[in-house]
Amino acid sequence: MTGPFDLHGKTALVTGANRGIGMAFARALARQGARTVIWGRDPARNATAQALLTGKGAEIHARQVDVSDEADVTAGIAAIDNAFGRLDIAVVNAGLIDKRASFVDIDTPAWRTLLATNLDGAFFSLREAARAMIDGGRGGALIVCGSLAVFAGTCGLEHYAAAKGALAAMVKSMAAELGGHGIRVNMIAPGYIQTEGSLTGDRGADIAQRTPLRRLGTPANLEGAAIYLASDAAAFHTGDVLVVDGGWMASLD
Ligand code: NDP
Repeated sequence: MTGPFDLHGKTALVTGANRGIGMAFARALARQGARTVIWGRDPARNATAQALLTGKGAEIHARQVDVSDEADVTAGIAAIDNAFGRLDIAVVNAGLIDKRASFVDIDTPAWRTLLATNLDGAFFSLREAARAMIDGGRGGALIVCGSLAVFAGTCGLEHYAAAKGALAAMVKSMAAELGGHGIRVNMIAPGYIQTEGSLTGDRGADIAQRTPLRRLGTPANLEGAAIYLASDAAAFHTGDVLVVDGGWMASLD
């Protein structure tokens, strides 16, 4: 395989990749040829995902990492450097969704728990990956999994919105700074995607009906955006938020 989407020779990291959207990101990058490291907290789920993703030329490595634990993240990035000597792509995806009935039901432990993973964990992962890319001197691509919560509100998800909105702002500052190192930084903002962590039932059916493409998304629907942003096809693309939502944000109906 050659061409602008080819990732052979690259090493990629995807956080929160033992299921759902992260697993699709990992599958996509590995299929394009990137040696891909997946992180998650549950070792059994990590092993299952590794087995599912490996094969047909895909090289997958799994490591138990809790991204809310700074030392765990630092050790995880060091392990990639020790094993492979390079990190070219990091997809910072690990995140919790914790919908409450109302803003006033978000108690302090819920606030802290969500921000520890979705914001602190993303920050630790991005910072350590950026350090490795700067040290490597080969540039790189940092991709953050955002949300439509960056653009519009949902009741009971204010803590989640706070984390995703902060990350969207940080992506721009990082892009402004890290471009000088050849490191591009972008966010993918998925619409409603059917996963374990997401909504189901009546609310899911209602959202599907109101989506211009008349369905919820699948994790696989995000693969193209990840491949594009990780690859040379996006060589002049940084500081952006790419919305993949079946048209949800485009419709007032
Ligand atoms: P899932 O709950 O299906 O998967 C979450 C993944 O993150 C799992 O692999 C989980 O593994 C991992 N994870 C959770 N906490 C941690 C942690 N502290 N350290 C390391 N890994 C962790 O979620 P989705 O696939 O639905 O969501 C993935 C991302 O996409 C999130 O950032 C979410 O905000 C975003 N998103 C999702 C949407 C959707 O509709 N599904 C829409 C917009 C954005 P383990 O439990 O083993 O650690």
